[in-house]
Amino acid sequence: MPPLDQVQAVFFDLDDTLCGYWDAAKTGLRAAFDLHPAPGKTTEEMLAAWANEFRRFAHELKTSHWYEIYLTQGGVTRVQLINETLQSLGIDDPELAWRIGDAYGRERDARLKLFPEAIEILDALKGRFPLGLITNGPADIQRQEIETLGIGDYFDHVFIEGELGLGKPHPTVMRRAERSVGLNGRQILFVGNSYAHDIVPAHEAGWATAWVRRPSDVPPSSRTGQPEEKPEGGPDPDLVMNDLRPLLGALVGAGAQRG
Ligand SMILES: [Mg+2]
Repeated sequence: MPPLDQVQAVFFDLDDTLCGYWDAAKTGLRAAFDLHPAPGKTTEEMLAAWANEFRRFAHELKTSHWYEIYLTQGGVTRVQLINETLQSLGIDDPELAWRIGDAYGRERDARLKLFPEAIEILDALKGRFPLGLITNGPADIQRQEIETLGIGDYFDHVFIEGELGLGKPHPTVMRRAERSVGLNGRQILFVGNSYAHDIVPAHEAGWATAWVRRPSDVPPSSRTGQPEEKPEGGPDPDLVMNDLRPLLGALVGAGAQRG
């Protein structure tokens, strides 16, 4: 039995922990390229060009003036990435970029679904623990996701990169979460799918950690189609699970101090 007896608050990551973001993004992007074809290019060519630009732009985004824009207006940087994708193929058509970007946002949102067990788990934990969300991404997109998924009422505390001005794995994010519940160390459990962005910063803050490695999950860095591997020498999470259900058994003796 993992030593989670001291846990008095539970924070969750959102994308690919509670909902299938990567899957919705992948199929939504394909749908957007199908809906608004670029002249002389197949959807496969567009997806490959987008993936190339994404690798480059994802880094530029965090280290340039684009970060300020990204924090509050995810749609603007989404369109910019598609504009640069088109330009990489010799197509200069900002209006087409806007149409594809707009469709991508809508198609992704329409496909965004909670994992089948998510509500059951949130229902079981709600009332026993203060619950929180800690999610990276633009403020507008993340708020829209919470609204689309209908899960806002489960969370006493919501921390979004776009609203904080910084995201995981920055240690300040974990400090802010600690202050919100007045707890620290192993009194807090963090549940997330990304080893680097969720497990490492939570472990460094001294929290208990639960790593969800879904067979469908795809690591943002490698796109290998395999769940992310723990790097050699990295800290062991307290719990490693394929979905959220093992949380219930692991937290049986926890939360009691709250009465
Ligand atoms: Mg995630």
